[in-house]
Amino acid sequence: MAVTSVGLFCAASELIDSLYVDEARKVGALLGRHSLTLFYGGAAAGLMEATAKAAKDAGARIVGVVPQILIKRNRVSRLLDDRIVTANLSERKDAIIANSDILVALPGGVGTLDELFHLMAGVTIGYHSKRVILYNVNGFWDSLVNMLVEFREKNFLRGELCNYITVVNNIEELENIIKS
Ligand code: AMP
Repeated sequence: MAVTSVGLFCAASELIDSLYVDEARKVGALLGRHSLTLFYGGAAAGLMEATAKAAKDAGARIVGVVPQILIKRNRVSRLLDDRIVTANLSERKDAIIANSDILVALPGGVGTLDELFHLMAGVTIGYHSKRVILYNVNGFWDSLVNMLVEFREKNFLRGELCNYITVVNNIEELENIIKS
């Protein structure tokens, strides 16, 4: 199945090292090169804004999936071509997952982890079979992957880890998945 839409989970923080911002921009440019639609949190902050700006500049369509609270706080990105308004964060996670052919997680904090685990929990219960691609900038996701490998070895995970996640280490590996 050709990929036409990508869901993105990533940091809202503005305080992170520029190497993460540079990689986020590469991901955005990749989405534009392949004329994809981006579904993401839609906030004007951190790696979300960096990716969306690079994606838009390169020709991608940008859809923010925005909880009402963000609209009230006036934190919504001006880059959006379209928006889906949700009542809360839980609905937002489901809307991003439902609209996306594949999901990609760039480095992030608690919000990103929440989205990742929501997605993986959905796979274990059988709501969907969408895997998340961990974009492993500078080994950012190594500790999470090691933890999940340990959980799997101790039989706390249902099925194989590859049912939940795929790890890519650079933009070429991500592009190969998008093209396949
Ligand atoms: P974090 O990883 O903690 O920086 O949170 C950012 C991620 O969680 C993004 O992928 C968003 O979809 C979501 N998110 C959680 N809280 C917020 C917020 N206040 N503003 C924007 N996005 C948020």
